[in-house]
Parts: sequence; structure tokens; C-alpha cells
Amino acid sequence: MEKYDIIIIGSGPAGLTSGIYAGRQGTKTLMIDKGPAGGLGLEVPMMENYPGYEIIAGMSLIKEMKKQALKTTPLKEMEEILSVQPNEDNFLIKSNKGEYLSKSIILCTGNQHRKLGVKGEDKFLGRGVCYCATCDGPLFAGKKVFMIGGGNTAVQEAIFLKNIGCDVTLVHRRDELRADKYLQKKLETLNIGIIWDTVVEEIKGEISLETIVLKNVKTSQENEVEAQGIFISVGDIPINKLAKELGVNLDQSGYIITDKFQKTNIPRVYAAGDITGGYKQWVIACSEGAVAAMAAYDDLEKIY
Ligand SMILES: Cc1cc2nc3c(=O)[nH]c(=O)nc-3n(C[C@H](O)[C@H](O)[C@H](O)COP(=O)(O)OP(=O)(O)OC[C@H]3O[C@@H](n4cnc5c(N)ncnc54)[C@H](O)[C@@H]3O)c2cc1C
Repeated sequence: MEKYDIIIIGSGPAGLTSGIYAGRQGTKTLMIDKGPAGGLGLEVPMMENYPGYEIIAGMSLIKEMKKQALKTTPLKEMEEILSVQPNEDNFLIKSNKGEYLSKSIILCTGNQHRKLGVKGEDKFLGRGVCYCATCDGPLFAGKKVFMIGGGNTAVQEAIFLKNIGCDVTLVHRRDELRADKYLQKKLETLNIGIIWDTVVEEIKGEISLETIVLKNVKTSQENEVEAQGIFISVGDIPINKLAKELGVNLDQSGYIITDKFQKTNIPRVYAAGDITGGYKQWVIACSEGAVAAMAAYDDLEKIY
């Protein structure tokens, strides 16, 4: 069985940064991701708040980070970790492809998209219902789409959809947006329409999405509108299954609790990035990933 000093589970911005730091420290480290490396980073259309770049697409930055991490740290993609258990002074890590032993673990498993939970949402997934504008948006150029949500991600994605030629309208359940002011200004400049105080009641169609039923939360009035696409961005759910199994302490929302060295309550288990809650930002995921790798190294020094 392959043995490591550090196994990093998840290779989004947090995991890749942990990989860069851990590899350069000389520890025997492996990064594993159930998808392609990049995580939610791959979905970021254009980022304007990552230091050093006035504007950069998530995919481009991931490509560079991956190249840098791979210089010192191997990566296994399309391999899902199914369980992690303490095993004497190691952790036994089982994936859908194999088993590993590691002295320490850095959990960088991020979040998954929250669903609306309305009728038709699952039925039309991939046939009009989408959770990632960067991935699926180009299929809807020239088509009528709705973006559901009011935070930074929803507004960024609405702007992206408009820029690639979609006829996009934002639907938000409140009467003001949570998104940063500079993003709201862009919405205005691009003349992207907003339907306020409104939620989606149902998603309808035959083979693919045809209409969505909107409901005004103040008047309770319902309105069925034609749509070829609906993009949903209404929050995230932490991917904490492995953390739970390990007995890692979570907060009320299911995010991993860490100290300032990214240590969890379980010795030699660290966590970094969106899975630790708080501000979900690229630069924060990177910085936590770096701290976790450095702390893991320091703790390994004590046991060797
Ligand atoms: C549309 C959009 C726009 C955004 N815009 C910005 C922005 O402008 N600026 C900014 O700073 N941030 C932005 N963000 C947020 C930023 O992308 C995230 O904060 C960042 O990706 C978090 O990185 P992470 O590594 O913690 O998690 P993720 O990127 O989510 O990566 C987690 C990884 O863990 C893997 N994983 C999970 N479970 C397992 C398992 N059991 N086995 C193996 N692998 C597993 C997943 O496959 C995934 O690759 C945006 C996000 C989105 C979606």
C-alpha cells in the first residue's frame, strides 16, 4: 500500500496551494480529487480580486497553480475518497480506486451547490437547469435564461451570461442584492433586468425546460414565464462527510472548525478553504492551504 506523510483531499485552490507548500517542504505528499483539479475555481468566469491579476478567469489560474503544484507533488484526479479512518499512528484512506496510508490529512473538500428544492429541478438538470454559468453558459448564447440568486456568484454569472450573448434576467427573493457594489454597477451598465422579491415555484417542460413559475413573495402572485435555461446560485453546502466520519468538530452550518494553524480537533487532521466556512474567497482558500501544509510539516517534524 502506498504510504505518505500528507494526503491532501480536494485539489481546488486550497488543495493545490497545500500541494505547492507541502511538496517544497520535502514531505512525501499526494493530492487527490474526485474530479479534475480546480474545484469551484473552474467555474469562476472572471475574477477581479485575486492579487497580482487585474482580471483572470478561474480556469487560467487553476492551470498555472496545477502546473506549479505538480513540480513537487503528484496528483490523482477522478478518484473519490470514500473513507478516512485512524489506523495506529496513520490514517487509512480508501478511495474508489485504492487504499493509502498517511501520517496526516488536509481536508480541502470545499462546497457543493445548494439546490432550490422545487418541482422540476432534478428532472431538467442538464436539460435547462444549470449550476455553473462558466461550464454551461455557452450552450445558451442567444437564448432566454434566468439567473436565480443575489450574491456575488449569482451576479458575476449573470454578467458572464450577458457577455456571451444570453438574454439574461436576474431573479432575487429580496428587494436588494447582497453582491458587491462594483458588481451591482456592472449589472446596471449592462442593462440586466432584475425581478425583485421573487422565488421560483416550479420548473416545467416536456423533454427540456420550457417555462418557470415565479412567485412574488410580497403579493403571492404567480407568473409563468418562458425560459430555455435557469442558472441557480443560491448558496452552498459543505462537503463534510469525511470530516464527520473522522469525528472532526463542525460548526452549526456543517463547516469544519479549525484554529489559526488550520488544525482540527483531531491531531494531524487539518482543513483549508471553503470547507472551513467564513468568507469563501480564492485568496483565503490559498492562504489557509498554505498554513495547513506548514502546520502539518511542523507536526510531522515532532514525530520523526
Ligand atoms: C461562479 C463562482 C464565482 C466565484 N468568483 C470568485 C471571485 O471572483 N473571487 C474569489 O476570490 N472567489 C470566487 N469564487 C469562490 C472560489 O472559487 C472558492 O472560494 C474556491 O474555489 C474555494 O476553493 P477550495 O479549494 O476551498 O474548494 P473547491 O474549489 O470547491 O475545491 C474542492 C475540491 O474538493 C474535491 N473533493 C470534494 N470531496 C472529495 C472527495 N471525497 N474525494 C476527492 N476530492 C473531493 C472537489 O472535487 C473539488 O475539486 C467563486 C466561486 C464560484 C462558484
